[in-house]
Amino acid sequence: MKLAVGFAGMGIMGKAMARNAAKAGHHVAVYNRSPLASGDAEGLEIAATPLELARCRDVLVLMLTGPGAVDAVLWGENGMGPALGPGKTVVNMSTVPPAYCASLAGKLGAAGAVFVDAPVSGSKVPAQQGALVILAGGPRDAVDALEPLFMSMGKKVVYCGEAPKGSMMKMSVNLLLASMMESLCEMLVFGRAGGLTDEAMLQVALGGPLACDLFKVKEQMLLQRKFPAQFPLKHMHKDLRFVTDTATDMRCPAPSAFANLQIFNQAMSKGLGELDFAAVIEALEGMV
Ligand code: NAP
Repeated sequence: MKLAVGFAGMGIMGKAMARNAAKAGHHVAVYNRSPLASGDAEGLEIAATPLELARCRDVLVLMLTGPGAVDAVLWGENGMGPALGPGKTVVNMSTVPPAYCASLAGKLGAAGAVFVDAPVSGSKVPAQQGALVILAGGPRDAVDALEPLFMSMGKKVVYCGEAPKGSMMKMSVNLLLASMMESLCEMLVFGRAGGLTDEAMLQVALGGPLACDLFKVKEQMLLQRKFPAQFPLKHMHKDLRFVTDTATDMRCPAPSAFANLQIFNQAMSKGLGELDFAAVIEALEGMV
C-alpha cells in the first residue's frame, strides 16, 4: 500500500530515506528548517513549515537531531501541533532518549494521534541503499501498517514492543557502536606506541574473526586520515549522553558508555564534532 508521507528533517539520513520512500511509490512531501540545496528534494513536494507538512500528509516522519529539534518541529512556531489528531501518525525516527520518547508518546496520544517510535541502525550508506534496520516500537497494528514504508528505507524491521522500546533498542545498539569504534581506534593508538603500523593492525582486525562491516567502512578513513561525516561525531556524543543518563535512571551498569562519553567529550572540545565519529582517534592521540 502506498502512503501519504511527510518527512521533517532532510539531513544526512532524512534526505536518503525520503528519496527511497518516494522511489518506492509513496506520496512524499518534505520540510527542512534550512533551505534545501538544489537536487536535494528533486521531484518531491516541499512544505514551507512543519504545520503545512502535517496538514498535507497523514504519516509524519521525523528525522531530526534530537529532542530540541523534535520539540521545535512539533510544538514550536508553525509547528505540526495544531494539525495533529485522529488520522495522523507521527513516526519519530530521530535518536532520542527513552524517557523523552515516553513523554512524546503520552502527548501525541492525548492529542488523538498515533505515535510510532522507530529509530534506525545504519548510517549514511545504508540509508542511501535502503538497507537500514528499523527498530520499531509502538502499537503493533500501526507498526504493521507502516511496513511498506519501512521496507522502502530498510532491509529489516525489528519490533521491539511498545514505545519507548524502539528508543531503548537504539540506546543499546549505540552503546555497542561507540565501544566498537573507540576500541578499534584505541587498538591503533596502543599498537603504534609499541611500534606497529596502522596498515598491519587493520589487516589483522579486518582479516580474522573480528572483521565486521563497521571496521570495513572506517578502514580507509583511518588510513587516509580523512573523516567526512557519515555519522557525525557530535551525534554519537549526544547519544552517549542519552545512554549514560538512561543507565543512571535505571541504575544499570554501563561502564564502557561512561568511559566513552569522557573520550567523546575530549573530541568535542577539540572541535571534531562535524567529522565522522571515527575521528575520535584524534582525541585518543591527544592523550598520548
Ligand atoms: P543531520 O544531518 O545533522 O540532520 C539533522 C536534521 O535536523 C536537519 O534536517 C536539521 O535541519 C534538523 N534540525 C536540527 N535542529 C532543528 C530545529 N531546531 N528545528 C528544525 N529542524 C532541526 O543528522 P542525521 O545524521 O541525518 O541524523 C538525524 C538523526 O538520526 C539523529 O538523531 C541521529 O542521531 C540519527 N542517526 C544518524 C545516523 C547517521 O549515521 N548519520 C545513523 C543513525 C541514526 P537543518 O538542515 O536546518 O540544520
